[in-house]
Amino acid sequence: MLKGKVAVVTGSTSGIGLGIARQLAAAGADIVVNGFGEPADIDRLCKAIAAQSGVRVGYVPADLSSADEARTLIERATHDMGRVDIVVNNAGIQHVSPVQDFPQDQWDRVVAINLTAVFVTTRAVLPQMLQRNWGRIVNIASVHGLVASVDKSAYVASKHGVVGLTKVVALETATTGITCNAICPGWVLTPLVQKQIDALAEREKLSPDDAKIRLLGEKQPSLEFTTPEQLGALAVFLCSDAAAQLNGVSLPVDGGWTAR
Ligand code: NAD
Repeated sequence: MLKGKVAVVTGSTSGIGLGIARQLAAAGADIVVNGFGEPADIDRLCKAIAAQSGVRVGYVPADLSSADEARTLIERATHDMGRVDIVVNNAGIQHVSPVQDFPQDQWDRVVAINLTAVFVTTRAVLPQMLQRNWGRIVNIASVHGLVASVDKSAYVASKHGVVGLTKVVALETATTGITCNAICPGWVLTPLVQKQIDALAEREKLSPDDAKIRLLGEKQPSLEFTTPEQLGALAVFLCSDAAAQLNGVSLPVDGGWTAR
């Protein structure tokens, strides 16, 4: 379905981004992987995706806390693969602290990676998408782009920002073949969430399994984690022709979290 398209997936060396990269590759898209990790691990991962799906897989090691590197990610991906048709803005980080104690440098870093990088890659890729009159921008926001939780000021503010930016880009490109949408996952069991489970287990003296159940029980009515595979399947759908009129929306995949 996506044969001939090139997809850049930011933060795709682990977690949700990796799940999305695998599914886009399975749908036929060539992939540009980005994110941190050991070079040998990343090399293995790229080769595995290429072997499984028979697509081209490249790696561009941009640190998205820098606007310059976010811009050069798109430039290098275009240079290496010839074009960029799909951008999945997935890289994101969390820092947890009450507002009055929130360190300035952590605020700046969360906003730079979670929000500013999304603006920068979008700005960098739009000219070529407009030229070809086709493009898909899929922003991985969060339920925290729609509702709030305590101690997550920078994360919630940045993800609400992503939801707003998604709507503006959708409106500005509405008469073209480009769409821009956001996916808003609830809890997904990735390294980002594992850190929060470990902190909860230590704070409340819980076993790892009990901490998982407590975490889900507080927010996610299904009591099950969303999986990277489910999010990957939704990203593939958003890139399909069937979703050509789906534009500017933010889709919760949260086991009912935001229905409350
Ligand atoms: P993760 O920590 O497993 O993966 C994050 C990825 O981003 C990794 O590949 C990492 O190397 C990369 N990354 C981190 N900082 C980077 C930087 N400065 N430059 C480039 N790459 C960087 O996290 P995840 O849980 O898979 O989260 C992915 C996205 O999904 C994030 O935007 C997160 O906010 C969002 N999200 C996650 C959950 C969840 O429950 N896990 C829920 C809602 C939204």
